[in-house]
Amino acid sequence: MPVSRYRCQYAWLGDAPVADVTIEIADGRISAVWRGEPGVPLPGLTLPGFANAHSHAFHRALRGRTHADRGSFWTWRDAMYAVADRLDPQSYFTLARAVYAEMALAGIACVGEFHYLHHAAGGARYNNPNAMGEALIAAAAEAGIRITLLDTAYLTASVAGEPLGGTQLRFGDGSVHAWAARADARRPHPHAVLGAAIHSVRAVPAEAVPTVAAYDGPLHVHLSEQPAENDACLAHYGRTPAAVLDDGGALGPRTTAVHATHLTPHDIALLGQSGTGACLCPTTERDLADGIGPARDLLDAGSPLSLGSDGHSVIDPFEEARAVEADERLRTRQRGWFTAADLVRAATVAGHRALGWDDAGTIAVGARADLVTVRMDTPRTAGVDPAGLVFAATAADICSVIVDGRVVARDGRHATIDVPHALATAIGAIT
Ligand SMILES: [Zn+2]
Repeated sequence: MPVSRYRCQYAWLGDAPVADVTIEIADGRISAVWRGEPGVPLPGLTLPGFANAHSHAFHRALRGRTHADRGSFWTWRDAMYAVADRLDPQSYFTLARAVYAEMALAGIACVGEFHYLHHAAGGARYNNPNAMGEALIAAAAEAGIRITLLDTAYLTASVAGEPLGGTQLRFGDGSVHAWAARADARRPHPHAVLGAAIHSVRAVPAEAVPTVAAYDGPLHVHLSEQPAENDACLAHYGRTPAAVLDDGGALGPRTTAVHATHLTPHDIALLGQSGTGACLCPTTERDLADGIGPARDLLDAGSPLSLGSDGHSVIDPFEEARAVEADERLRTRQRGWFTAADLVRAATVAGHRALGWDDAGTIAVGARADLVTVRMDTPRTAGVDPAGLVFAATAADICSVIVDGRVVARDGRHATIDVPHALATAIGAIT
């Protein structure tokens, strides 16, 4: 059993940085944590691996291409559908491999892929109906990160039950039972957790919710990202989206509500009392003009917070984390809603739990050996107190990334993939 030892200038242990920590890794796990023993030096602050709890890998192709758009979430969605229409299993593998490698450089050890682009144009089935999901799982393996594939049920075009059309035909399985049969046919992989997702109350009727909710493993759902979705849900069901999910048995500790932006106090209580998590995606929510979710109220009510880069206008867990605090400051004109420890927890251990990896996201004996080292001698980080580094660092300050004991990035470069070239080639082929 190969054993490695790293000596960290600082390591994030529990909820704070500790100086001069040696971490021993055996068989992909942390086997010992000491003070001041010899080891390969890791200068800077070493954090646990980040979990990116909400991703749509193909949205990365839109970065910098919708900035002149004066529309809304809904006009942006048209541009996103145009990209979706150009993907097949091979081009999606190529794109996702590059995007996940970008994530690896940003310290992300595990991605939660909210996957709904299942089928070929017009809804035609590939020979392997899970070919697109398999492409994502293979892409994560090549990028050196873990994946939770949240296979997403997408059945209708509106809360009122309009049928899918156009690009959306690629998302639909026809019925919730056909969705379940396809999701059940997925094959296990050691670096993958197989979970499920309800796209939203727009795309999954209330009567289909219990079938998706019964799936084993993590369950994710887009919740109340847009006021228009809430209005349509109230008009059709006389209940909010959170109440529809609650009535369908879809809330609970296995569940993560993504965005959770436009909630009533009753919705917040439903999520908190059931232990349902909330995945905030602040850089996407600001990019799409969604609004600011009630992050502090959710945490206080009992909902663990996790973070996702979602549409990938930015892939930077530090930016995502500090935006949670910054958005509350803008809304309330007060500071100090979240500590650095709250934000690191959301980016690491809570994110991993939301993705079904209960043994990752901390630097502790027995945990998966995911170590993300941030330089403290860059123009952004020099002179910064390591306890407050999450408020100063960017993904570009990360020099070393170790996932499951394997070195994925060193000196800020991916071990096996030329990331800028891979991204430019993959995006160039579909735009
Ligand atoms: Zn999403």
